Amino acid sequence: MATDGSKIGINTRLAHSGNDPRDYFGFVNPPVVHASTVLYPDAAAMASRSQKYTYGTRGTPTMDALTLAVDALEGSAGTIAVPSGLAAVTVPLLTFASAGDHVLIVDSVYHPTRNFADTMLKRLGVEVEYYDPRIGAGIASLIKPNTKVVFTESPASNTYEVQDIPAIVKVAHAANAIVMMDNTWATPLYFRPLDYGVDISIHAATKYPAGHSDVLLGLVSANEACWKKLYEGFCTLGCCSGPDDVYQTLRGLRTMGVRLEHHQKSALEIARWLEAQPGVAQVLHPALESHPDHALWKRDFCGSSGVFSIVLNGGGQKKQHAFLDALTIFGLGYSWGGYESLAVPVFLGDRTVAKGSYAGPLIRMQIGLEDVEDLKADIERGLKAAAAAE
Ligand SMILES: *Cc1c(COP(=O)(O)O)cnc(C)c1O
Repeated sequence: MATDGSKIGINTRLAHSGNDPRDYFGFVNPPVVHASTVLYPDAAAMASRSQKYTYGTRGTPTMDALTLAVDALEGSAGTIAVPSGLAAVTVPLLTFASAGDHVLIVDSVYHPTRNFADTMLKRLGVEVEYYDPRIGAGIASLIKPNTKVVFTESPASNTYEVQDIPAIVKVAHAANAIVMMDNTWATPLYFRPLDYGVDISIHAATKYPAGHSDVLLGLVSANEACWKKLYEGFCTLGCCSGPDDVYQTLRGLRTMGVRLEHHQKSALEIARWLEAQPGVAQVLHPALESHPDHALWKRDFCGSSGVFSIVLNGGGQKKQHAFLDALTIFGLGYSWGGYESLAVPVFLGDRTVAKGSYAGPLIRMQIGLEDVEDLKADIERGLKAAAAAE
């Protein structure tokens, strides 16, 4: 395998990064190592902890196969695998934020991240403040002497505003704060946070890497400066993921490139078509030319995934529910990134800054791998029911 990952194509990297089949008698996939205890040859080796693996919580060959593959995608110094995407948010925040620190979090953040910050981080004495996703370099006005972490997520959960990550990184680093980014939407295939100066890249691998709605896993990748501390925090919290989930995520990762291409193509086709449908006021998808942050998205991202939202033309919850209840292919359920299409009502009542002003209720859609014509027919059923519910 080429050590310089940048010189080889993304699908080649996805197919071959992580484990070396020759380490395991030529079998293509790595073994699933179920382990707590690791034996040492003698007491001296125990005292010095000098061998590669020391205990199951601290790493196994299965975990390494996944995390090394992710390092090759992210360009990171190291990666940890934790039991959920939410743990991939909480573990680095607990590791880097201390009592008395000020943490800036984007207001359009994934709701459970906000819940964690508002409950546990605040209880531990961390000062939490939310900022507008479109703030860019203006974040300088919110920086305080005790600002330790700037938490970003781009595009925004549910409303898809794009953040000016390089501008935010510049301001944060000048103030000695680190930048974390929840990059679940783009995956490292369509945006590489560390290339833009982000220190910690967070991924709900439950979504596209695992890809089949049957695994919960989170990945956190760090640059050289933050890696040691992140790994220590991971070991201190004992927040390791199970070997079968790690294996399933690596299995999913191998096909993520081709799956994402399909999600991208279908989602864009449906998003463009939706812009012309009666009953749809707005389509919130950053790869559409009509999106207010399209230029920023185009500058930094090299692809788009399969989730976006639509705004219905007026009405309220009755109309929103009529749309959702008329769907027969789209499932009503949380999460996304699997092979099947999903739709959920969007709730923006938790926001304090980025409330936005929309013409009607919002619905988030995950476009799966089904045939586009079938999905369009399903959405037409929804729009017809929504129109009848006025
Ligand atoms: C789904 C999601 C998470 C959490 O992932 P889980 O594995 O479901 O805990 C975190 N961040 C974002 C942006 C997500 O969409």
